[in-house]
Amino acid sequence: MASHDYDIGIIGGGAAGLTVASGAAQLGARTLLVEKEKALGGDCLHYGCVPSKTLIRTAQVYHLMRNSRLFGLPVIEAPPVDFQAVKKRIQSVIDTIQKHDSEERFCSLGAKVEFGELFFRDEHSVRLNGATVSAKNWVIATGSSPSIPAIEGLDQTPYITNKEIFYLDQLPGSMIILGAGPIAIEMAQAFCRLGTKVTVMQRSGQILTKEDKDMADEIMKVLSSEGVTFLLNASVLHVKDLGSKKEIVLKDGEGKSVSLKAEKILVAMGRDPNVKALGLEGIGVDFDRKGIRVDDRLRTTQKHIYAAGDITGAYQFTHAAGYEGGIVVSNAIFRLPRKTNYTFLPWCTYTDPELASVGMNEKRAREAGMEYSVWTEPFKSNDRSLAEGEETGKIKLLLDKSERPLGVQVLGPQAGELLSEWVAVLNAKVKLSTLAAAVHPYPTLGEINKRVAGTLLSRKIFSDRVRKGLKFFFNLKGRACGGDLP
Ligand SMILES: Cc1cc2nc3c(=O)[nH]c(=O)nc-3n(C[C@H](O)[C@H](O)[C@H](O)COP(=O)(O)OP(=O)(O)OC[C@H]3O[C@@H](n4cnc5c(N)ncnc54)[C@H](O)[C@@H]3O)c2cc1C
Repeated sequence: MASHDYDIGIIGGGAAGLTVASGAAQLGARTLLVEKEKALGGDCLHYGCVPSKTLIRTAQVYHLMRNSRLFGLPVIEAPPVDFQAVKKRIQSVIDTIQKHDSEERFCSLGAKVEFGELFFRDEHSVRLNGATVSAKNWVIATGSSPSIPAIEGLDQTPYITNKEIFYLDQLPGSMIILGAGPIAIEMAQAFCRLGTKVTVMQRSGQILTKEDKDMADEIMKVLSSEGVTFLLNASVLHVKDLGSKKEIVLKDGEGKSVSLKAEKILVAMGRDPNVKALGLEGIGVDFDRKGIRVDDRLRTTQKHIYAAGDITGAYQFTHAAGYEGGIVVSNAIFRLPRKTNYTFLPWCTYTDPELASVGMNEKRAREAGMEYSVWTEPFKSNDRSLAEGEETGKIKLLLDKSERPLGVQVLGPQAGELLSEWVAVLNAKVKLSTLAAAVHPYPTLGEINKRVAGTLLSRKIFSDRVRKGLKFFFNLKGRACGGDLP
């Protein structure tokens, strides 16, 4: 049997790679973790979730300050945002989390961390920092990068992506965002709230295209009311660098040619897998434009080489990367065949209101040709929402024809947090009657979960049939309203 330097080699120190490294090293596997940047943590920590959610919170506080009168407070004239101070706060949050993702921590768990780039020499060995290193198993967890469209003039015009947006020297006065996915829409609201004039351009007729249109349209309404301009069904014709401003010429929904100018262009039009320079072509690992091809045990076309996280192009979220990292550890280290199952993989877009989803939405149920019913409950009927001044949105519960839950979408305040109860309900197959009967503290936003489950059951409980039965058995006398006192 061939002997290798390592039991497992992991390429990429982001959410997926770190999960595998920590699991494998703690289980006693001789583990090598290779990262091309100077620090571990990947996109989520440095250019993604952490800086974006920190920025979103800052923007939300500023928005509340500027809307103090809505809460019965004195109107205050908020001074303009100093982006250097915002950037400092973002960096301090990153620095705190970085300690958890440090080389020292992974070394203490037993993994060898090496910084540098590598390429495969053959199916088991790589060239790394001038040495040849071999491993019995490899995991490719190199993540994804912003996809840059082939637009005339874009390559000669400075633009920004998620790599630069959190590290700007000053708040842009104006910004055109190309794309309307979660990253684009979160940044549109945050920068608009901070004081940037934001225009979002989208090729199709809906923002957040994976979501149901009614939910996505509601978010667009909120953002529009805050000052974001949306150009849907628009296509960029060309881009030009005018110095301090950049020009985008586009064809709008009516086919008219429109010229827009802004200080910054943010490109947020999807993600490309980081497969370049790894030498995968030479070792029989298949990949395409979307990512590395894997089976449901996350094995590539070379069975001892796994891929996890954004690189597979499937569900590009940190929690999905962590989940997939766990699947790889089971398969590669424990040798326990474990398959991925994304049926109840949740996600959330952190706009205000948030939009969180688990299981099927209407769009996916229709695509799957399923019969379903929809049950909704608006946030404006939730007492806590009223107290918080957060009345926009609703919860939407999808049931199959046997009235079992297919999925839930929450559009509203703290939707991501509210979804957790549904994650447990759906995964544990908890009956809706159990959720409806469980006492929830009053007044909480979470009561909306109990309430939507209850609407379905109350239809059955308060039916004519039940009423007639009770009248018959217990001699109930029926409606009191309308009659005189006896
Ligand atoms: C702006 C933004 C906001 C986001 N917000 C959220 C959110 O709120 N919630 C959520 O769940 N997800 C969010 N995401 C998505 C999330 O960041 C990714 O899904 C997650 O980082 C994927 O983890 P990963 O390990 O696959 O890849 P990454 O975290 O990108 O890690 C890959 C690592 O591999 C390294 N690497 C690349 N090539 C090589 C090479 N050749 N050799 C060695 N190392 C290499 C990279 O430097 C990187 O460190 C957001 C993304 C963006 C861009």
